Amino acid sequence: MIEPRNAKEIFLRRPLEIRHNTSWPMTRQKGKKMLVGTVLSGDTIGAYLHYYGRRSVPHLHPDICPACKKGYPFRYYAYVAALVAKDDLHAIVEFTDASMAQVDAAFCKYRTLRGLAFGLSRVGNAGNSRLFARFEAGRRDKDDLPEAPNVTKILMNMWEVPELIQSEFAAEMAVNRLMGVSSLNGHH
Ligand SMILES: [Zn+2]
Repeated sequence: MIEPRNAKEIFLRRPLEIRHNTSWPMTRQKGKKMLVGTVLSGDTIGAYLHYYGRRSVPHLHPDICPACKKGYPFRYYAYVAALVAKDDLHAIVEFTDASMAQVDAAFCKYRTLRGLAFGLSRVGNAGNSRLFARFEAGRRDKDDLPEAPNVTKILMNMWEVPELIQSEFAAEMAVNRLMGVSSLNGHH
């Protein structure tokens, strides 16, 4: 990173460093308008999500999943990095379980999702009605498309997975410690 304090000129036609858009906001298809774009990822990556504590959290190992312990249901969602809309906005696009048959068919047909043009729409008018995904061969050269980011990493940060696992792991460790202590006591 260039330190602006070291700039020798006052007036600059551009900043010292042009920052390209590297954020990948979550984008969901809503309303009547079809969400269109080009897939950058080779395939989807997803998780079973609970809506728990007013946010989406991934289902953890059944032994330690707090949402499961409280009986919350989960649903599968999948994600790809994509360029969306007219302006090629960087986005993480969400697919629902209901649209995964179309995702899978496209992956089997083209052997990769990267470079495919997609359109996402709702079968009904409600925001939560069934999502329908359509794919076709993209018109753009795959080599001209930007590289896909690590979507798993983006999701991990968004869902705070390291913290979730750490806190659950810490809780488990504490239980083990207590059990260890009691079993040691049991030997005496
Ligand atoms: Zn769970």
